[in-house]
Amino acid sequence: MTAPRHLGGGLDAAPTAVVRAAELGSRIERYRDAYYRGEPLVSDAAFDALEDELRGLEPGHAALARVGATPASKEWEKARHTIPMGSLNKVTTEDELDEWLARCAELLAKDARSGIAAALFVAEKLDGLSVELIYSGGRLQDGLTRGDGEIGERITANVRRMRGVPSRIAYDGTLSVRGEIILRSSDRAAHFADYSSTRNAAAGTARRLDGVGCEHLTVLVYDVADELELATESAKHAFLLSLGFATPHGFAGDVEAVRSLYREYNERRRAALDYEIDGLVVRADDLRVQAELGELNRRPRGVVAFKFPSPVKLTRVKAIVWDTGPSGRVTPVAEVDGVELVGAMVRRASLHNVANVRRLGIGVGDEVMVSRRNDVIPYVEEVVASAGAPVEPPISCGVCGSRLRPEGEYLLCREDSCPARVEGRIRNWIDAVGALEWGDKLVHTLVGQGLVREPFDLYKLTVDDLASLDRHGKKSAANALGQLRSRLPLRLPTFLAALGIEGFSTQTARLLVSAGYNDLERLLSATAAELALIDGLGDIKARMVVEGLAARASEIERLREAGLGPLASEAVGPLDGKSFCMTGTQRRPRRELEVLIEEHGGRMLTGVTKELDYLIIDDLASTSSKAVKARKYGTRLIGEEDLNAMIGISEAL
Ligand SMILES: [Zn+2]
Repeated sequence: MTAPRHLGGGLDAAPTAVVRAAELGSRIERYRDAYYRGEPLVSDAAFDALEDELRGLEPGHAALARVGATPASKEWEKARHTIPMGSLNKVTTEDELDEWLARCAELLAKDARSGIAAALFVAEKLDGLSVELIYSGGRLQDGLTRGDGEIGERITANVRRMRGVPSRIAYDGTLSVRGEIILRSSDRAAHFADYSSTRNAAAGTARRLDGVGCEHLTVLVYDVADELELATESAKHAFLLSLGFATPHGFAGDVEAVRSLYREYNERRRAALDYEIDGLVVRADDLRVQAELGELNRRPRGVVAFKFPSPVKLTRVKAIVWDTGPSGRVTPVAEVDGVELVGAMVRRASLHNVANVRRLGIGVGDEVMVSRRNDVIPYVEEVVASAGAPVEPPISCGVCGSRLRPEGEYLLCREDSCPARVEGRIRNWIDAVGALEWGDKLVHTLVGQGLVREPFDLYKLTVDDLASLDRHGKKSAANALGQLRSRLPLRLPTFLAALGIEGFSTQTARLLVSAGYNDLERLLSATAAELALIDGLGDIKARMVVEGLAARASEIERLREAGLGPLASEAVGPLDGKSFCMTGTQRRPRRELEVLIEEHGGRMLTGVTKELDYLIIDDLASTSSKAVKARKYGTRLIGEEDLNAMIGISEAL
């Protein structure tokens, strides 16, 4: 049979790209106007995502060409900026930063000048509402919003109430400075807790006609509009500080310094700030060079915004499912049309908890923005366009059908026999004893098939049982079982922690042992009142321990009958009372070392603090921040072999 030949006819739907571009264009216009009125309808990130999508479909679209908005006809008086407030070009990768520097070098080469890469000034790019402050004769005279860059609103009365705005400065002439109205995170927590976005709270409050709340806003100043007798951005920064303005952090350095600063900000500095930033502003430090580079479309050529990656994409919700997790906690998850994000196809995105679902008002069919920050699981940031009614949270557990109970922001399944919770307990056991060969998938299958209901069942499994489930075959099955058994006999603290009783960590277990409850018999016969006397345990934990052990009594009994009960622990192990932290790579898996340390009485800390006794590190001469901090605190840096020596085990391991 030959393929049919098309003879024309029929009506094709308009190409989806064209329809989509038109829709995006009108939405971008609408959102942009709302944004400049200080009443944003979507987040900046969603707006950027829409713009990016449109740029991909139709780079020349008119909606992309506009910079600002037409000023809204609201009650604030309009005022013209003496010097227009422009925008910045942005780069988002180190390669793009290099391209920008190369372009600058090219432009400067025409005048036989060298590039700017050797002398740059960097400041944090604030995420707030831009403002111009005008001083005359040392007094604050005017405060104007950015508006469309040419004409803004005179919100002077509000600006006077904001922090970081001196009413007098030691400067005689007229001085116009530029800054950003921001809401500090601490102020947001204290005064604006119900706002969904810090920027919206700042922009909305700054333009309130009654000025209520402006006393909680802060202005950080980053630029001077007037021509001053200053040679560099660094000098300008110092000048602003000397006048008493609050400013963002400023730095000077070459391109290498900028790169490392950018990475540092991404890794830790950004999170440590009391305000939100979305990038770094990188400028040619030399102001004369900046002037020579000039500007294009009201965007200075000698300045770029080096934006942090906050990859987001828009997609559509296909379904909302409610997963009961190993702790019994129910996590709502949005199943979405697949989108690629940071090199991965995203089809499921977390909605965190039931409170967040209510806050988002999310429903099936909604267009949503998903993000993937620092490689954590994708997350639904916001509902961009709602398609109908929000989803109703479930009443019963999707796994076992028992009634869910609300607890704080979460829904919880409290049914002990719920397979999801059984799986959680088994995973906890595997993890606590350090049997790393047992993946989550294997545990899931074993529980799902009813082969394992409690820890004891793990020890009844045969190689054939596992091999029939596990595609890796007999060898890996034997490895897994061998590893599990090699941990026997368990010591009491490990045994207790492995049970995974609510509120019962290894730390608690150690506390009990050092308080003299060093064999299981003694512990099982203890009352809550007795345990509550232990220093550092308290009434609530004591009750959790007693009730938790009672609830698992028959399970524990079966383990003991089979000879899997714990060894009585000596109160003092070789590492007793010592604290440890690990950094870098070790020869043995991290979890295995942790179990080893805890079994011998040591305590794991997650970071380097003054309390830390030992930092385990592969390179004792390391200059990493953890190593440097540890040396400062007098923490000892040791290698894995030192740890072995402390415990008294040979290298042969
Ligand atoms: Zn359940």
